Amino acid sequence: MLITNATLLTLDAENRILEDQAIYLENGKITAIGPEKALQAWYPDAETLDAGGQYVMPGNVCAHTHFYGAFARGMSIPGPAPKDFPEILQKLWWPLDKALDSDAIRLSAQIMLADAIRNGTTTLLDHHASPNAIDGSLDVIADAVRQSGLRAILCYEVTDRDGPERTRAGIEENVRFIEKYAIRNTQYESATQQISNQQSPTPPLPHSKISATFGLHASLTLSDTTLDACRNAAPEGTGFHIHVAEHEADEYDSLEKSGQRVVDRLHKHGLLGPRTLLAHCVHVDAAEIALINETDTWVTHQPRSNMNNGVGAAPVESLLRAGVRVCLGTDGFPHSMWEETRFAYMLQKAHHRDPRRMPGNLLFDMLAGNNPALAGSFFPDAPLGILAEGAHADLIFVDYHPHTPLTPENLPWHVIFGFHESMVTTTICGGQVLMHDRKLHTLDEAALAAEARELAPKVWARYEKYTEKYTEKYTEKYAEKYTEKYAEKYTEKFAAKV
Ligand SMILES: [Zn+2]
Repeated sequence: MLITNATLLTLDAENRILEDQAIYLENGKITAIGPEKALQAWYPDAETLDAGGQYVMPGNVCAHTHFYGAFARGMSIPGPAPKDFPEILQKLWWPLDKALDSDAIRLSAQIMLADAIRNGTTTLLDHHASPNAIDGSLDVIADAVRQSGLRAILCYEVTDRDGPERTRAGIEENVRFIEKYAIRNTQYESATQQISNQQSPTPPLPHSKISATFGLHASLTLSDTTLDACRNAAPEGTGFHIHVAEHEADEYDSLEKSGQRVVDRLHKHGLLGPRTLLAHCVHVDAAEIALINETDTWVTHQPRSNMNNGVGAAPVESLLRAGVRVCLGTDGFPHSMWEETRFAYMLQKAHHRDPRRMPGNLLFDMLAGNNPALAGSFFPDAPLGILAEGAHADLIFVDYHPHTPLTPENLPWHVIFGFHESMVTTTICGGQVLMHDRKLHTLDEAALAAEARELAPKVWARYEKYTEKYTEKYTEKYAEKYTEKYAEKYTEKFAAKV
């Protein structure tokens, strides 16, 4: 397919803005970029997609999300509003994930994937939980991803909070899925190559737009035994995707359980490294930041979620200054990565009461550099997140008409103050057109929304049932645990905090 009449934002090392360009896509990759007339002459018979002079740029990446949260929209939480993040977990997320059956998992994923296509986000790292439907849940999501045409890295969050049987089931679900996708995926290219040399039909290998990692909930719901079991069960070369220090409770709990802070505890159990992703890290201290950097572990920042949960502002600049690769995710909010970037920009300034904090160019490096570098490590057969020959053909058309000059140097501030997801008109992933002129091709949004509206009352009814149980079970247990009593107890250990 030949895309014509495009203004390219290449976002590669040269970071060029090129007018009157064409891009040729073949077998999921960008195979040629050049002046429109030249490419039209080279590919006279190619199917053509006219970009109408719009900006054409790489699709966005979301480094941390939860498809399973789709039914939370508009849902009411019974009783008094949760007063802090541990209560949000107990009253909202833990009963909701229990309410999900296979249909609800599929629909949640489809709804979220349609949202991602519309918002121009072409790759997502999802973190899934459904304690009453664990076995095969990642296959249900993978089917939805395949149908959508997007790229995703999936995992199941292992936790001890629902008993040892479900802990084991969660571990098995990760291992099964990793063996099916992540490991065989890295062999995909060479196998395809060998088979095409023999001129046989396409091999029945897993879809190359799906990969996997090993999911863990958070230190505060995982025992030492389970951490070791996960480490030992994870196939060679696998990394972990886990929430870290989203709220002080995670640090208090870790200090109580092990005498160590969360990052130190995870390191002791062999869970850090260049394939591991830590979500949030709002309450990590200087030593934890140093350890994250030493082990070359990834971090992802979700400012909208942090603000909504009232958990504080992550030390993003300290992490970056230490050398940590920090990405951006949505944590289940709409997959609008420019909006997430805008919130990240504002949050640090508001939090520190200093407009110099969180410079736009640093933030843009996270969005356009770290996010695709992380996602690309799961799809290593081609570069991801740049417009260049040989790169994955994941791109979007943006109907943006700047009223001031747009240059490679000031692009971050155009993105922060000017770009909006409603300007995304076309989304392409792996060379497949998923949305054109704002019309989705692979998912029927209206039909999915109608089906979800039918199902929502049933999911909500099950949720309410579990909420009552959770409230009874945990209110007493957690009320004492996560209050000032612990904060006081650990004040000294928190003194080193950046
Ligand atoms: Zn999360």
